[in-house]
Amino acid sequence: MMNSTHTNSTRYTSLTPDIRRQLAAIVGPDSLIVDQPELLEPYSHDEISGGGHTHLPEAVAFPRDEAAIRQLVELANRERFPVTVRGGGTGLAGGAVPVRGGLVIAMERLNRILDIDPDNFTVTVQPGVIVKELNDRLAETGLTFPCFPISYERCSIGGNVATNAGGGKAVKYGVTGRYVLGLRVVLPTGELVELGGKLQKNVTGYNLLPLLIGSEGTLGVITEITLRTVPLPTERQDLLALFPDTRSAIAAVPSLIARTGIVPASIEYLDRLSIQVTSRFLHDDLDYHDCGAALIFSLDGFSAERVAQDAERLRAFVLAHGAIAIEEGQTPERRERLWRVRRNLAKAFRSFSDFQTCEDISLPPARLPDMLEELQHIADEFGVQIASFGHAGDGNLHPRVVAPPDWTAARWRRELPLILAAIYRRTAALGGQLSGEHGIGEKRRDFIGLTVPAPALALMRAIKATLDPNGILNPDKILPAD
Ligand SMILES: Cc1cc2nc3c(=O)[nH]c(=O)nc-3n(C[C@H](O)[C@H](O)[C@H](O)COP(=O)(O)OP(=O)(O)OC[C@H]3O[C@@H](n4cnc5c(N)ncnc54)[C@H](O)[C@@H]3O)c2cc1C
Repeated sequence: MMNSTHTNSTRYTSLTPDIRRQLAAIVGPDSLIVDQPELLEPYSHDEISGGGHTHLPEAVAFPRDEAAIRQLVELANRERFPVTVRGGGTGLAGGAVPVRGGLVIAMERLNRILDIDPDNFTVTVQPGVIVKELNDRLAETGLTFPCFPISYERCSIGGNVATNAGGGKAVKYGVTGRYVLGLRVVLPTGELVELGGKLQKNVTGYNLLPLLIGSEGTLGVITEITLRTVPLPTERQDLLALFPDTRSAIAAVPSLIARTGIVPASIEYLDRLSIQVTSRFLHDDLDYHDCGAALIFSLDGFSAERVAQDAERLRAFVLAHGAIAIEEGQTPERRERLWRVRRNLAKAFRSFSDFQTCEDISLPPARLPDMLEELQHIADEFGVQIASFGHAGDGNLHPRVVAPPDWTAARWRRELPLILAAIYRRTAALGGQLSGEHGIGEKRRDFIGLTVPAPALALMRAIKATLDPNGILNPDKILPAD
C-alpha cells in the first residue's frame, strides 16, 4: 500500500511577493487580504471552545467562481503552499483552521442558488449558500433540505457536505450525505471532477460521492452541489418530557420507535447538569425542579390529525415509561420555548468557564445508558464536570467537559488529552466512534487511532496521497502524524 508522501514535517513555501501578485491577479486585489492581521484574525479559528486551535493564515482569497478556485489550487500545488477552505466557520473540530498558515479560500462569495427543479426534486447550489437561506428559498416551492445542523443560520451548505453534518432531525431524515446527488470538485492538483448529478439512482462505476462527503476539505474543494429535496411538512408538534433520571429517559427511546412505529423528526436528550446550568443562565421559568433528564420530541407530517394522534400516543408512551411531566408545543412561539434550553446550552456553559470542550461521540443507540454511566465515572476520576446532551434518537452524544473554577490553563492543557483519551477509549469499548457529525479536523486527529484500526487508517492515507500528492490541501487534519 502506498505511504503518505507528506507529513507534519512537510515544508511549505510561504507566500512570496511573487505568489501574492499571482493570487491578486486571479481573484482581484479587492478580493484578497494579506498583511493585515486584524482582517486575517477571523479566519484563524472556527467555533471550538476552550482555545488552542487558532492559526493566522498568510492570506485569504474570496473567489467568485470555480475557474478562480482552480487557478488558486493549481498555483498552490505548483508552488507548494498550503490551502484551507472555509465555509461559514462554524465547525467544531478546527477543520477550517489553517494550521500550517498559507492561503484560506473563503467560499462566502460563491453563494448563488443555481437551479431549483421541483420536477426532479433537486436543488443545485454553490457551496457558500447559507443553509437557512437555502431552506427559505426552497420553502417558496413547498420543498426542503430536511437535514440541517442547529447552526443553520450561519453554516454553509458546502461546510455541511464537507463534514457530512447531521443535526436535530437525523432520526427521521438522516444526515447530509443522504441528500447529496451530485458534486463538482476541484482536486488538490487543480483538475475538476463532476460526480453524480440529478440522478436518484446511479451505480455507474465506483461511488466516489461518499468519499468526498465528510472529507473535511482534505480531498477536494467542493464548488457545486446538487441536493435531493423532500416535500416540506406542513404540520409540526413538539413535546418536552421530563424524567426523574437519565436511565429512564434514555431507556424510553429505542422502545418508542420499535413499539409505537412513530418516528419523530427529533429526539434530543439533556441531562440534569445541562438543564440546571442553562435554565439558571436563561432565568427560565419552566419547572425543571425535579427533573433529572429531559427528552425533546419533534413530530412532523402533512396531516394535522395524524400528527396530533402521534403526539397523543407519544405522550401516553413516555408517561408509561417514567416521565414525570410533559410540556407541549403547537405554536412556533411555544415550540421555541421548549427548545430554549437545548439551543442555549453552549452559550450558558461558555459564560462561566474558559476551559471546556464539547465532544461528539457516536454509539449504537442502545449503548447510550452505559456510556452516560462511563462519563460519570470519568468525571469523578478527573474531578471535572461532564454535562451530556445530544441526539438521543441516533446515538450521537455531545459530552461537554468543564474544568473546575480553580484549574489553571496549564492544568487544563495537561489534563485534557487524558480526559479525551479516557472518553474515546470507553466509547470504543462500547462499539462507538470519535465523531458522529462534527468531524476529526485538527482537534481529534491524534486520537483517531483509538477507534479506527491501523489498516483502515493506512487506506485513508493512501487515498489522501493519491489525490493530494503534495499535501497542499488542508494539511494536518484528520490523519495523525506518521
Ligand atoms: C451553535 C452550533 C451548533 C451546531 N450544531 C450542529 C449540528 O446540529 N450538527 C452538526 O453536524 N454540526 C453542528 N455544528 C457544527 C458546524 O456548524 C457544522 O460542522 C457545519 O457543517 C460547518 O459548516 P461551515 O460552513 O461553518 O463549515 P466550516 O466550519 O467553514 O468548515 C468545516 C469543514 O468543511 C470544510 N469545507 C467547508 N466548505 C468546503 C468546501 N466548499 N469544499 C471543501 N471543504 C469545505 C472546511 O475546510 C472544514 O474542514 C454546530 C456548530 C455550532 C457553532
